[in-house]
Amino acid sequence: MSMTRRTLMAGGLAAGPALSASAAGVAGGGAPAAADPPGVYRFAVGDAGVAALHEGSLSRPLDAGFVRNASLDAVQAALERAFLPKDALPITFTPLLLTLGGRRVLIDAGFADSGPPGTGGTLRGLAALGVAPEAVDAVVISHFHPDHILGLRRKDGALAYPNARILVPEPEWRFWMEDARMADPPEALKANLGAVRKVFGGDVKVERYAWKSEVLPGLTALDTPGHTPGHTSFLLESAGRRLLVTSDVTNHPALFVRNPDWSALFDMDADQARATRHRVLAMAAAERLPVAFYHAPFPAGGHIVRAGSGYELVPLQWGLPHA
Ligand SMILES: [Zn+2]
Repeated sequence: MSMTRRTLMAGGLAAGPALSASAAGVAGGGAPAAADPPGVYRFAVGDAGVAALHEGSLSRPLDAGFVRNASLDAVQAALERAFLPKDALPITFTPLLLTLGGRRVLIDAGFADSGPPGTGGTLRGLAALGVAPEAVDAVVISHFHPDHILGLRRKDGALAYPNARILVPEPEWRFWMEDARMADPPEALKANLGAVRKVFGGDVKVERYAWKSEVLPGLTALDTPGHTPGHTSFLLESAGRRLLVTSDVTNHPALFVRNPDWSALFDMDADQARATRHRVLAMAAAERLPVAFYHAPFPAGGHIVRAGSGYELVPLQWGLPHA
């Protein structure tokens, strides 16, 4: 057992160019010595480059309310089937760095340095790739939950990517920035509205994009509401290849790809989110599209296949050509 593990780890380290580059990044970036080496996974979509960046993970204690419409027994059985702990759900965060027409484009921002312990890997991943925060040209946001937007700023309030255009979904902006809602926030939204105000208040310049339009050349915004009112997925297209960036259409695939009818606590409109989830998973399976998730186990991508009454995520193969 220990032999196997050692062999696997040695093989992984030797085979991973991103990891050897990352060692230099950590040493140069002043990251805490205790932090894991950055997780970076690169692959190509036509002429576009994609790097999945392991922002980190946290372990969410599992209670009966996490999946609103399934028994705790059923949820624990699904976790056991996936060889996961039964009392806590590991939730990971995976922003993507795209190299698109010569531009460096981040999709979602993680937490930067203001997240829970075990996060902050996006900045270290960028350092491992030799990409300075100043060199990021655009940050495209899928929706306004804190784990996607807080990383637009450092803890001290400074913009984390000072030269980047910040592109947000119009319907999401309209919902969260509405004056009346800001002035008199419903209890359930208070913390989130606070995060939205912190990130988008002040002098930050934000551009709003519409659904079903190109956010940037080769990157189309897809309307996938339900998780939040303006929740957005993306279709990346380059040289005849495509990648479907699902954002938070599902949380952990072992639960919600497998059981698309299940509703996580985080889905603001459970019925709409369920309909969206079915539509997106069915499309990914039918069109054999590679997909990227935000909350799947790293590298948080693969393909979707039908399995029984639900679907499965087949993980991406490490070591495919990358741009
Ligand atoms: Zn999320």
